Amino acid sequence: MHTEMGHDIEKAASLLEAGELVAIPTETVYGLAANALNAKAVARIFEVKNRPHFDPLIVHLSAGSGPESPMSGMTSMGPCRDVAKAEDYLRRMLDPYVRDLPVWALKLARSFWPGPLTLVLPRKPVIPDIVTSGLDTVALRIPAHLATLELLARLPFPLAAPSANLFGRVSPTTAQHVVDQLGGKISYVLDGGPCGIGLESTIVGEVAGAPAILRLGGLRQEDIEAAIGNVAHAPSGAKPLAPGNLESHYAPSAPLYFDDLGYAQRGYAPGEVALLLYKKELAGVPADQQRVLSPLGDLNEAAQKLFAAMRELDALCAKRGLKAIFTQKFPDQGLGRAINDRLKRASAARVS
Ligand code: AMP
Ligand code: MG
Repeated sequence: MHTEMGHDIEKAASLLEAGELVAIPTETVYGLAANALNAKAVARIFEVKNRPHFDPLIVHLSAGSGPESPMSGMTSMGPCRDVAKAEDYLRRMLDPYVRDLPVWALKLARSFWPGPLTLVLPRKPVIPDIVTSGLDTVALRIPAHLATLELLARLPFPLAAPSANLFGRVSPTTAQHVVDQLGGKISYVLDGGPCGIGLESTIVGEVAGAPAILRLGGLRQEDIEAAIGNVAHAPSGAKPLAPGNLESHYAPSAPLYFDDLGYAQRGYAPGEVALLLYKKELAGVPADQQRVLSPLGDLNEAAQKLFAAMRELDALCAKRGLKAIFTQKFPDQGLGRAINDRLKRASAARVS
């Protein structure tokens, strides 16, 4: 199958209406989308990604269109000023899919949708089992990307979409990344440019009757807590609630060391390693084997560049026969927490 990359929203819509898969841009990472209400179409996602069926998908909802939608004001991003109107709209919009909408969830949706926040809520039967891996809950969000919002507004159904990469691998933040991993397996990638946030969404669900962060991501914990107060982190169990929480995930092919720049102590020569760094290069290792994510120390910029840099260094390792990628720990605040989380999981794939 030939994989085409383009900007044709109409074409993406027709393919999705025909039950086919399309890779779509979002502000977090590129998603591999199918009609969320069509179990057969959704099954193809698992096949193409080689994703285990115990790993449920996120359902992407339309912000609506036209002036009647307080969510569609993408030019005036941020919370809708008319709280009652926004909440009423959200209730009606979520009603076909969820049985219960707790106060904390309504507040978060109003504050951060469209945006990098996924809410896990009790589902209605219209959401097929395959989407939720048989769980009684469904993960939902409205993405903040103009092309995908336009696409969603045209479709009579929501889109189930996990990240558009092979299972366990680094998530794609450009259309080309999608083609690199899934080329030949899907027919169309809707190109919306590089993802503005670059990390998967933050997932919040209810654990023991209170909201908890199930996965760290593109929305900062600080912002969530400013809106609804302190939130817990879900304990990682044997069967993870959010498989983005699997110990080994988001991994490049080369072994990756997290919070460890001691390549020499591990027996590597400077010419044999690649480095992924926050603000500045490390003397001794050739400069072209290093990637600095944000010279000015901006964690948002670092997050936006993280996955592309991991891919670049991975490709460099393959090309030049470098042996490993060494990374440092980022500040444990804002998006730094999610960056550390991803790097730690990427390092867990290391065999040695
Ligand atoms: P991905 O888009 O590939 O990062 O995958 C979506 C993430 O959302 C996965 O880690 C899922 O496990 C998580 N997720 C989806 N549905 C649920 C749910 N009902 N409960 C908890 N996590 C979920
Ligand atoms: Mg993923």
